[in-house]
Amino acid sequence: MASLTLENVRKSFGPTEVIHGVDIDVKDGEFIVIVGPSGCGKSTLLRMVAGLETVTSGTVSIDGRVVNGVEPMDRDIAMVFQNYALYPHMSVFDNMAYGLKIAKTPKPEIEARVAQAAKMLQLEPYLQRRPRELSGGQRQRVAMGRAIVRKPAVFLFDEPLSNLDAKLRVQMRLEIKTLQRDLGVTSLYVTHDQVEAMTLADRMIVMNGGVADQIGAPLEVYANPQTAFVAGFIGSPP
Ligand code: ADP
Ligand code: MG
Repeated sequence: MASLTLENVRKSFGPTEVIHGVDIDVKDGEFIVIVGPSGCGKSTLLRMVAGLETVTSGTVSIDGRVVNGVEPMDRDIAMVFQNYALYPHMSVFDNMAYGLKIAKTPKPEIEARVAQAAKMLQLEPYLQRRPRELSGGQRQRVAMGRAIVRKPAVFLFDEPLSNLDAKLRVQMRLEIKTLQRDLGVTSLYVTHDQVEAMTLADRMIVMNGGVADQIGAPLEVYANPQTAFVAGFIGSPP
């Protein structure tokens, strides 16, 4: 486990600045949800934490160590994407084992970790299947499994449920909450769905146009929105 700190983080694409100085302090084991409309910069922020985008200025630190410039594989972070990004030609087992193989983890250790994650995520019967032979919810679990087996210090989620139907989304939301309770991994979770944010977050961050408008416990943000944008966004129906 680890803390995660962003200090005055900015991002420009060419001449256009899209993240305008964001400060976030995620405590050890805390689950923070970033919520905001499409295009406000959620994915870009997460990708900078993951090392998939460079930081134009400011710092990203994990456990007090600045990681700007550190390769994604060396950041002790695992990311779950919206489109799952599974390898279609690989079995569920191989999809989950992939990152560990790259990291040259010994085979028995890989098998033990995949078995443990498969059990936790109810994927044991599907380990030899290909992603196309799974339902949307099962694919989503494989993507989670692939992150869990790496035992990262920090989890990043980018709208992991947005491709699921409404019923499955509710179920997976509960499963993520249970996993979070069991694993307690420091997490940054991005969504455009304020219900997801309200139910999952220890603290939530409302983003608007590249700025963190408000940070606080869900009920506190709900009861005491600090900008008109936050009031409108949190108050609007899902
Ligand atoms: P969100 O995830 O909240 O929908 P994004 O982080 O994807 O928002 O995008 C934030 C802004 O940055 C948008 O205006 C988007 O068009 C712009 N943007 C994102 N990625 C790139 C890129 N690679 N090149 C240029 N502009 C980008
Ligand atoms: Mg996005």
